[in-house]
Amino acid sequence: MLGTGEHGMAEAEFLRIYSKDVALVAPDGRHALTRLQRLAADRLSLQILDGPCLDFRLADAEVELTLEMGRFTFDTVYPALGCDIRSELGSMLGTKVSDDGCIIVDVHQQTSVEGVYAGGDVVRGLDQISNAMGQAGVAATAIRNSLSSKLTQLRQ
Ligand SMILES: Cc1cc2nc3c(=O)[nH]c(=O)nc-3n(C[C@H](O)[C@H](O)[C@H](O)COP(=O)(O)OP(=O)(O)OC[C@H]3O[C@@H](n4cnc5c(N)ncnc54)[C@H](O)[C@@H]3O)c2cc1C
Repeated sequence: MLGTGEHGMAEAEFLRIYSKDVALVAPDGRHALTRLQRLAADRLSLQILDGPCLDFRLADAEVELTLEMGRFTFDTVYPALGCDIRSELGSMLGTKVSDDGCIIVDVHQQTSVEGVYAGGDVVRGLDQISNAMGQAGVAATAIRNSLSSKLTQLRQ
């Protein structure tokens, strides 16, 4: 697990459910872990490796990471680096965003601006493909229904 701090620890703990061999590697330098987090890592037998990560190489069925303290081989590398919420376009259109930058939507994925819908990672919730696709389906249906009712009004 490439990461550190609270987020890195949470992801490493999650992966620990699936494997007894999990290492938490700080990407940029020494780990930013509290004493309690280090105790938790010990309890879970997580390997704590300081960075920076200098290089990586894909081997046959492994990934080789080069750290200052040497070269390490892993079955896979999972990034826990956090995310930047790219909601600038929505903000430019006047949509309301939460304190952390997520676009706020209603149950039909409509934003605070009529006719503007949002879904996926840019709204708050589970950041996974299936969720994004489900929200896209909800938005598409709402858009279709909204256009249909506008058309009916125009015809009356
Ligand atoms: C390393 C990693 C592993 C993951 N593994 C999984 C997994 O195994 N299973 C799973 O379900 N999910 C996984 N996810 C999460 C999944 O990728 C996201 O939840 C999903 O891609 C969200 O889709 P989206 O369309 O909301 O955003 P994105 O897929 O990020 O698409 C947004 C697009 O908008 C573009 N964009 C941004 N700003 C602008 C702009 N101003 N103008 C034009 N274009 C713009 C971006 O370039 C990007 O192409 C993973 C994510 C990461 C980072």
